[in-house]
Amino acid sequence: MKKRSNQKIIQKILSAAFILLACTFAFFAGAKAVQMKSAQAMRQSGEIQEEPGTIHEEQPVTTAHISDALGKAPKPGERVIYLTFDDGPTDNTEDILDVLDEYNVKATFFVIYTHEGCEKEIKEIYDRGHQIGLHSYSHSYSIYESQTAYFEDLRKISDLVFSATGMRSRLVRFPGGSSNTISRNYNEGIMTELTQELERRGYAYCDWNADSSDASATVVSAERIVNRSVAYIGQEDPVVLLMHDANVKTTTVEALPEIIEQYRSAGYRFDVLSTESFTEHHTLNN
Ligand SMILES: [Zn+2]
Repeated sequence: MKKRSNQKIIQKILSAAFILLACTFAFFAGAKAVQMKSAQAMRQSGEIQEEPGTIHEEQPVTTAHISDALGKAPKPGERVIYLTFDDGPTDNTEDILDVLDEYNVKATFFVIYTHEGCEKEIKEIYDRGHQIGLHSYSHSYSIYESQTAYFEDLRKISDLVFSATGMRSRLVRFPGGSSNTISRNYNEGIMTELTQELERRGYAYCDWNADSSDASATVVSAERIVNRSVAYIGQEDPVVLLMHDANVKTTTVEALPEIIEQYRSAGYRFDVLSTESFTEHHTLNN
């Protein structure tokens, strides 16, 4: 009798231990599945909460942003290319997105205010999994007159992107790049001031180290854009390629498949820029 009740107790302990083990396993398997869910999927399902409401420019931001969740820093020896498109959205945006989708490649779009209702295209870029960076609202060099003028313009494009996506981008590209000298006509030393102030406010700015040359003339042939773009294969590490999403730049769209194919066959991984991944800085000239 005693022996049988001991057996029962042992059985109970064993089954309790088994249940505990099964629960632990299920818990870790669940946690892993959550981890593996992409930032994009979480963003779409609303699991990632974006920073709400107004922007507090005086304080560095510590909240995790979706723009940081995307983009991995290159591993040592890894070949990575960041495709970047400035000055959109435009009539070409949809075609660029279709090419990127076809090759399953993600890119970074440094947007400006192009036309009334352009939030729709900005949202489309974001929803299709690409990175949105802040280029400028006006894209006028008069933004370099003062820090106040610059940050007022930045706030306007930040608000536009926020109204389109619900995301506060912290990734910036200066009109003309941080090395531009045109800003000297407006304010001596402004680029040095702005680069420091942006970082103090929790932004990261990113220039480029590879130029597709699509802005070297109004219309540049697709062949030339391809040739210039692929000349950086094995030359820069990683490659941050400058391209333009502007209405007249239809040849950029034509060149894109060949550029992607050549970088892909040279073993490059395509990624998006983020404040946490990689940022290229030019030498300042003002
Ligand atoms: Zn631009």
